[in-house]
Amino acid sequence: MNDCIFCKIVKGDIPSTKVYEDEKILAFLDIKPVNIGHVLVIPKEHFKDIYDIPEETLADISKTAKRMSVAVKKALGVDGINVTVNNEPAAGQVIFHVHMHVIPRIKGDGFGLWHGRRDYREGEAKEVAQKISQAL
Ligand code: 5GP
Ligand code: ZN
Repeated sequence: MNDCIFCKIVKGDIPSTKVYEDEKILAFLDIKPVNIGHVLVIPKEHFKDIYDIPEETLADISKTAKRMSVAVKKALGVDGINVTVNNEPAAGQVIFHVHMHVIPRIKGDGFGLWHGRRDYREGEAKEVAQKISQAL
């Protein structure tokens, strides 16, 4: 994708602060970190989101995100880590080249991922679970 910022980072047309690289994967620091040490893990090949990415490539970035999590924890001594993928604008996706966030968390940092949890009405959970199962 010509106008994709992360493809430009892969090609070296836009600078980035790299943490790890192999033939298929790149991990670099997020330019606007939630906390210091916030890493983005991407496939070098362009895929848009979780719907688009092949399972094997997702496995590759997941394995790297696991290694990044252990390394960030060890190197920076943070209190916790969130590993997330945002898909589509409604879920907060801004860059449409799939990426896994490895977000260091500090107790009391106020970063709120989930808020306003709700309850299922009677019978709703079973219906929804069936719908999702049938879509597999
Ligand atoms: P999204 O909201 O799409 O899940 O996350 C995109 C992330 O990419 C954001 O956290 C944002 O700070 C980061 N980002 C956007 N542009 C650049 C850039 O040019 N360089 C780097 N290193 N990170 C970027
Ligand atoms: Zn791209």
